[in-house]
Amino acid sequence: MTQAYPITEHKYDVIVVGAGGAGLRATLGLAEKGLTTACITKVFPTRSHTVSAQGGISAALGNMGEDDWRWHMYDTIKGSDWLGDQDAIEYMCREAIPSIVELEHQGVPFSRNSEGKIYQRSFGGMTTHYGKGNALRTCAAADQTGHAILQTLYQQSLKHHAEFFVEYFAIDVIMQNGECRGVLAWRLDDGTLHFFRAHMTIMATGGYGRCYLSCTSAHTCTGDGNAMLLRAGLPLQDMEFVQFHPTGIYGVGCLITEGARGEGGFLVNSEGDRFMERYAPTARDLASRDVVSRAIAIEVREGRGVGVNNDHAYLLLDHLDPELIHKRLPGITETARIFAGIDVLNEPIPVIPTAHYNMGGIPTNIHGEVLSVSYGNNESVVPGLMAIGETACVSVHGANRLGSNSLLDLVVFGRAAAQRCAELIKPRTQHKSVSKALLDEPLARFDAIRHAKGERSIADLRLEMQTVMQNHAAVFRSEEILQQGVENMQATWDSFNADKRISDRSLTWNTDLAEALELENLMQQATVTLKSAVNRTESRGSHAREDYKDRDDDHWLKHTLIWLDESGQSKIDYRPVHLHTLTDEVEAIQPKTRVY
Ligand SMILES: Cc1cc2nc3c(=O)[nH]c(=O)nc-3n(C[C@H](O)[C@H](O)[C@H](O)COP(=O)(O)OP(=O)(O)OC[C@H]3O[C@@H](n4cnc5c(N)ncnc54)[C@H](O)[C@@H]3O)c2cc1C
Repeated sequence: MTQAYPITEHKYDVIVVGAGGAGLRATLGLAEKGLTTACITKVFPTRSHTVSAQGGISAALGNMGEDDWRWHMYDTIKGSDWLGDQDAIEYMCREAIPSIVELEHQGVPFSRNSEGKIYQRSFGGMTTHYGKGNALRTCAAADQTGHAILQTLYQQSLKHHAEFFVEYFAIDVIMQNGECRGVLAWRLDDGTLHFFRAHMTIMATGGYGRCYLSCTSAHTCTGDGNAMLLRAGLPLQDMEFVQFHPTGIYGVGCLITEGARGEGGFLVNSEGDRFMERYAPTARDLASRDVVSRAIAIEVREGRGVGVNNDHAYLLLDHLDPELIHKRLPGITETARIFAGIDVLNEPIPVIPTAHYNMGGIPTNIHGEVLSVSYGNNESVVPGLMAIGETACVSVHGANRLGSNSLLDLVVFGRAAAQRCAELIKPRTQHKSVSKALLDEPLARFDAIRHAKGERSIADLRLEMQTVMQNHAAVFRSEEILQQGVENMQATWDSFNADKRISDRSLTWNTDLAEALELENLMQQATVTLKSAVNRTESRGSHAREDYKDRDDDHWLKHTLIWLDESGQSKIDYRPVHLHTLTDEVEAIQPKTRVY
């Protein structure tokens, strides 16, 4: 195979696959520490999905009122429905403060309050005094926070001489004797193949929202890193937990940030009723996302949906001061105008719960090191491999992520991974040997897809997969619906294997081939999502089972691990939730002692 596809070899101390917030934060940290670093990305860095993050990034800075990182920790544990690892959550909430101050010093143009400090807004599930008050904790750069962070981190990485390989598509990780030796990548603009060797490979490839028909994520969010690790025989964790954002624009999926409700917007049904007052009397429109998404779904199901088909809800902003909308929500004003033809100053925005975030992913410790684990056994680190950002499952979000905690996860654990690499790797040391024969298998897979001659187009197969996921793994789930989903998904995957057609055989800018590789990645993740969801017979966080309505801590206070082989066969095991803290500065919170 390596004769049919000549390979260019590169050697770095560390390679980072992905240039979103997580990948760039790690890249910057590594370059600052003098490690030779290559960042590989399939899109230009500032086009990564992080660019579209609107609402903001959480940290208990206390700029707009009293706050404490312990309250942030409590909210995150509660929001996770106790599935989050408490030591990791402690680390994230405490490190949030220096991480944001660093971002400010690096040049992120945060909005300011009247004292000139970073502006902070209210977000769902963020409270003071352990659930008693409403926290103003989400640091924002208007409603374009991700954009501001990404631009700053990219510029800083360039300043520190990190090297970027832009429009390189990573195909697979290369593992030898259980250790990662690097990645094989396809250069999209000239069709050449490249083997990047490194002491450490960091996956920062983002989520897999594109499994669904309606999602807020970019077309590039195909979870390639997750799929690469499944193919390498490693497990993924908690894949049944997919967050639906309550306010995707009806029909197109684009996001209207929770910040819109944080600034005073609210939801109504066809009777003009502010229905969130019934579902969450205290938090109302700022209840956590799973609660609001389910409330919309129930309103629609009970016949109180708006629109011609009575199948969505309205988000109202027209009572807010136009000056405030102009200053704090310019991005969503534009999004609503372009994608819904709506003037938010005068009209309601049609919204519907839309797939938004993947809590599950590659299991890691707080340093970003990938774990290979089995229930009851000690966790072991996979040498040479890390994962950060949405592709990882640390797990700080557990069964449900709080808004503005993802951007935080990116910078805190991107930074932690860089720090760990600096401890583990001596710059410019010799690389471990690697057998070239290891490249044969991924090259053979690549070659087989490239020459596929079946009947069905990639677009057709993708639509089928997305429809299965939309109908069988959405807000409300049951054994029957999920099991049917597993079967339909297997049929779609079989059809992909047997009958896919690639019409372009070239290697240069072959988007058909790139989309086929992405689709195979998505199908693997759709399969493990459905199988993990059938397996978990309880309701927790975003996973709402109609046949098992309650949380069942006796049986299910544990993380799911799932392995998948090429034929679609899976194996499930478990890992205990960390119900302990990292330090004695704060006490662990026991699920049973709190009422959810
Ligand atoms: C519309 C929207 C709004 C959001 N708003 C907020 C918010 O306000 N606050 C918040 O906390 N969170 C928010 N989130 C969530 C948050 O933005 C994401 O979870 C986060 O940006 C993911 O960052 P990442 O670095 O993990 O991945 P991404 O930003 O998705 O980047 C992935 C990177 O991996 C690269 N890549 C992927 N596959 C390959 C491959 N095969 N080869 C080479 N490169 C590859 C891509 O090129 C890209 O550079 C929002 C999400 C969405 C979709």
